[in-house]
Amino acid sequence: MQRLQKATQQNTRQHNRELVLKVIQANQHTSRAEIARFTQLTRTTVSEVVAGLMIEGLVEEIGPGSSQGGKPSIRLQMAADSRYLVGVNLSQEKFSGALVNLRGELKETVELPVIDTGSSQALSQLCQLIDRLLANTRRPVVGIGVGAPGLINTQEGVVVHAVNLDWRSFPLARLLKERYHLPVSIMNDSQATAIGEYVYGKHAVTGNLVVVNVNQGIGAGIIIQGRLFQGDGGYAGEIGHIGVPGNRRACRCGRTGCLETIAGVQAVLQSMQERSPGPPWSLDSLVECAAGADPIAQAVVAEAGQALGVALSHLAGALNIQSIILTGGLVRFGQPWLAAVQQGLHQSTLPRLAADTRISFGALDLRACILGASAHLLLENYGLLFLKPET
Ligand SMILES: [Zn+2]
Repeated sequence: MQRLQKATQQNTRQHNRELVLKVIQANQHTSRAEIARFTQLTRTTVSEVVAGLMIEGLVEEIGPGSSQGGKPSIRLQMAADSRYLVGVNLSQEKFSGALVNLRGELKETVELPVIDTGSSQALSQLCQLIDRLLANTRRPVVGIGVGAPGLINTQEGVVVHAVNLDWRSFPLARLLKERYHLPVSIMNDSQATAIGEYVYGKHAVTGNLVVVNVNQGIGAGIIIQGRLFQGDGGYAGEIGHIGVPGNRRACRCGRTGCLETIAGVQAVLQSMQERSPGPPWSLDSLVECAAGADPIAQAVVAEAGQALGVALSHLAGALNIQSIILTGGLVRFGQPWLAAVQQGLHQSTLPRLAADTRISFGALDLRACILGASAHLLLENYGLLFLKPET
């Protein structure tokens, strides 16, 4: 009985310190009194918990704030560089990773070209990247978050299928945990990008947000009430293979007519090649041409945007989430592409739904995936910041 009581007390204390820490993280420059108000904990409990957090080095005092009569209260903030997380993005041609501090700042970044796409080669490249990041700091690193392309089962830590890495049913989280003895989170790169934009993108959104990542593939990350919605199988937001009526192009998935064969990066390059043959088009040259008012380039970009907008009308209709953010390579086409996406959405959904849906660009470019992959670790478990168990 006594042991049980002690266990319960420890749970409560652990819960309290996570709660207080979350409030300090979410409200910059807060005070003990404010924390007590937010958490409904007593002032004494808050003071004790804060003292513990300061011993852990996680929280620091930054002097008195403004007073409204009476003694000004001491302001508190997270010690941003007291812990680092590793965030990795495997979805580009280069693997990129960073040490991320508790304010979402990238402190050290490493990029490695992917030499070969064999599965063991990809893993050793990834480990080399993480090794280099870890060798660059003496601060405590408390977890590793990975954003990878393809179908990922975050719950099980398994890459179900990632074509470009040649990983099938690949137990990536277990392999990294065994090697680094740290908590590991793996997730789809579009879902990681969505978390990054939600947590660090400073978008004026309530708890709901859809982030659509348009590269060669097209994926969305869906945030509902402040949490990533992954669906039953973990694949929520896999919109790249929605069938587009009238589209006959072959897709890498083996079927024809998928969204990404008409609205993805590869798709716009192919369309341009068909209409304006010659040396192969690159994204750079097409962006330049479209900006220079080349009518063929502009038409290609408009068609791609339009098709994406139609596909997004399904999401808007099903979820009624009013903020949609676009990220990825095609963002480089700027306002004309965005306008075409909006047009596609407007023409294929109820006017009221379309009018209430705001589509805008992401704020963090490629950093979003790295930031989101690392932030997900914290969202799931604030406790990993503590180096000493509460006694
Ligand atoms: Zn497909």
